[in-house]
Amino acid sequence: MTFGRPDGSQTEVQADLIVGCDGAFSAVRKQFVRHSRFNYSQTYIPHGYMELTMPAQNGEFAMKPNYLHIWPRNTFMMIALPNLVSRKYINIRYL
Ligand SMILES: Cc1cc2nc3c(=O)[nH]c(=O)nc-3n(C[C@H](O)[C@H](O)[C@H](O)COP(=O)(O)OP(=O)(O)OC[C@H]3O[C@@H](n4cnc5c(N)ncnc54)[C@H](O)[C@@H]3O)c2cc1C
Repeated sequence: MTFGRPDGSQTEVQADLIVGCDGAFSAVRKQFVRHSRFNYSQTYIPHGYMELTMPAQNGEFAMKPNYLHIWPRNTFMMIALPNLVSRKYINIRYL
């Protein structure tokens, strides 16, 4: 494999096993699919996703942080995750 560095230089590496852990738009996978008999399929879940922020109130969490906050509604769900640094709540809606 050839790896390109940010400075433009390249490194050639030989390996018996290659594990691609470069995310959903994997450059490693993109190279592999060019080879014959390499099978790959991708399926998207039907759910949507949205993030809302619940700001801190007087520097503290708007809701108690040591509880699980989940609001299920039919096929929807909203969960609130406390951000321990900003004291904000990140609310995630799965639609
Ligand atoms: C907004 C958001 C919220 C999420 N919330 C949750 C959650 O609450 N719970 C949950 O379980 N999952 C959540 N996920 C999903 C989770 O983040 C992913 O499933 C997980 O990070 C995938 O891990 P990964 O190691 O496959 O890839 P990634 O975490 O994407 O890591 C890939 C790494 O490879 C590097 N890379 C990519 N291309 C190259 C390249 N060409 N050269 C060198 N390096 C490269 C990237 O810089 C990155 O560091 C969320 C995702 C998003 C976008």
